[in-house]
Amino acid sequence: LSLAEKKILSDSIRDIKDFPQEGVVFKDITTLLNNKEAYQVLMNHLENRYRSYNLDYIAGIDSRGFIFGAALADRLKIGFVPVRKKGKLPSTTVCEKYELEYGYDEVEIHLDAFPKKDARVLLIDDLLATGGTANAASKLIKNVNANLIEVCFLLNLTFLSGATKIEKHAPVYSILEI
Ligand code: AMP
Repeated sequence: LSLAEKKILSDSIRDIKDFPQEGVVFKDITTLLNNKEAYQVLMNHLENRYRSYNLDYIAGIDSRGFIFGAALADRLKIGFVPVRKKGKLPSTTVCEKYELEYGYDEVEIHLDAFPKKDARVLLIDDLLATGGTANAASKLIKNVNANLIEVCFLLNLTFLSGATKIEKHAPVYSILEI
């Protein structure tokens, strides 16, 4: 990505202070999605990067990872797999619990999510904060015997060091860093 393209992307992401709770600066990507120039810059970049990776599936994290993940899977003409919050997937699942600031959350994947043997999978989400969610999603992908090739984020909040958790599973790539 050129500096100009990076600026188009970072300018299109909106900061919302104190959402969903006080002290949090929420990175709102709806203003990237409704900006056709920014959305094209992002998707063209992802398509160019991952075209040569020989991937079989994109796995997207609930719920903003679905937007980029499904769009990228379509561009690469490969399958898409949702990693969902607990209780949403209808068939047999495997589940991974992870710690939040207060309490726990759980993500799930279908046991038969990757029908191709030794599937090559890219995991994608909009934002890496503490890494708890993507770490749990990475474990799920490995637990159903797929190969996690890389974990991709639009935005990495580097001051939270989330990447150190994920790098145990696969390389981490983020387009923008704060
Ligand atoms: P974490 O598990 O701490 O890495 O949090 C990552 C998940 O929470 C991602 O699915 C993000 O979409 C969401 N998230 C965490 N912090 C923020 C933030 N400041 N702005 C927007 N989304 C966030």
